[in-house]
Amino acid sequence: MQITHKFRLYPNKQQEENLFETLNLCRQTYNNLLAEFDSWDNISKYELQSIIPNLKICDSRLKKVYSKALQYENYRLFSNLKALSQLKKKGYKVGRLRFKGKGWFKTFTYNQSGFKLTNTGKRLQTLHLSKIGDIKVRCHRNIKGAVKQVTVKHMQSGKWFASITEERKQEIKQQPVNKVIGIDLGLTDTVYDSDNNKTANPRHLKKKAKKLAHLQRKMSRKKKKSNNRNKWRVRLARQYEKLVNSREDFLHKLSRYYVNNYDVIAMEDMPIPDMVHNNLAKSILNSCWGKLRQMMAYKAEWAGKLYVPVDYNGTTQRCSQCGGLVPKDLWEREHKCPNCGFEVPRDYNSALEIKRLCLQKIRQELPESTPVEMEALPLVTSVVEARSPFQNL
Ligand SMILES: [Zn+2]
Repeated sequence: MQITHKFRLYPNKQQEENLFETLNLCRQTYNNLLAEFDSWDNISKYELQSIIPNLKICDSRLKKVYSKALQYENYRLFSNLKALSQLKKKGYKVGRLRFKGKGWFKTFTYNQSGFKLTNTGKRLQTLHLSKIGDIKVRCHRNIKGAVKQVTVKHMQSGKWFASITEERKQEIKQQPVNKVIGIDLGLTDTVYDSDNNKTANPRHLKKKAKKLAHLQRKMSRKKKKSNNRNKWRVRLARQYEKLVNSREDFLHKLSRYYVNNYDVIAMEDMPIPDMVHNNLAKSILNSCWGKLRQMMAYKAEWAGKLYVPVDYNGTTQRCSQCGGLVPKDLWEREHKCPNCGFEVPRDYNSALEIKRLCLQKIRQELPESTPVEMEALPLVTSVVEARSPFQNL
């Protein structure tokens, strides 16, 4: 299996210049390949790649860039084209690929070769990148497998990071299916599960989001293209990074908790396009839930457990106990079923319903031989106030 780690890079002045130059030349190569692609009726990935040597003859500066990094731009172009055509197939209105301006190109990639990570035994280790140099890197995790790919990223805040992908040889042992949990992702900022646990986004996240909004307002009042505004832009970018980091930390803990304590984790499979908002806070929250699903899925896979996405349609409107339809408006926080008398908080009912759909799904899809010790859905008669399973969040 492949695991990617993100480590901070500490380039010296010369190395940083090289990094910027590589970034810029990779961007130009991408644009040149795109222009070439557009001028043909139909050109294959392989054919387009073969023009890279010609580009090098036309512009000798390209020789300063590791050749695999230039080839990667061809790969990037074709994967962008593929993503575009998939969106089109789904019925979205899509335009053409655009040329990338200076601010819109932030990464370059060394695939398979051209890099070496050396453990110096000190706090900072060394990442050798061919044609760039030996850059100091802070590895807060051990790399146990073979490194397959290194992507260098320049952040808005001015920091540099390397995403290092390693291949680990580790057999995944499928775990027996005993404990199943359904998780409802709230419209506000809470996660409710079918064991009646409720976890809210930690308060420090809200604080950071508030500060971010504050900085954004301040920056918007500064004169466009002024040095002063640029200073605020960097400040804003730093604050945004802080928010993203602590949010990821929270999501890692949350997903780790569920993967450690349950064998099957069910969540709603929410389509992303429905969730696009202009509101900053809301869009942060939405990307948050998308990320949580991703983490849950890969952590479950590595642990030999199951992540089951279920259809999100109707989970809030159906009664988890009798299946009856109980329509409610957004503001109604309670579920009161007129058919069977089931009364619980709205999100708790949703979590139970997600669990029920999940059980239905695995009964249908898992082969008979799988040791599924299925439990009946809990019949909840009285509800205690939900608490977070976390002590320190
Ligand atoms: Zn009911």
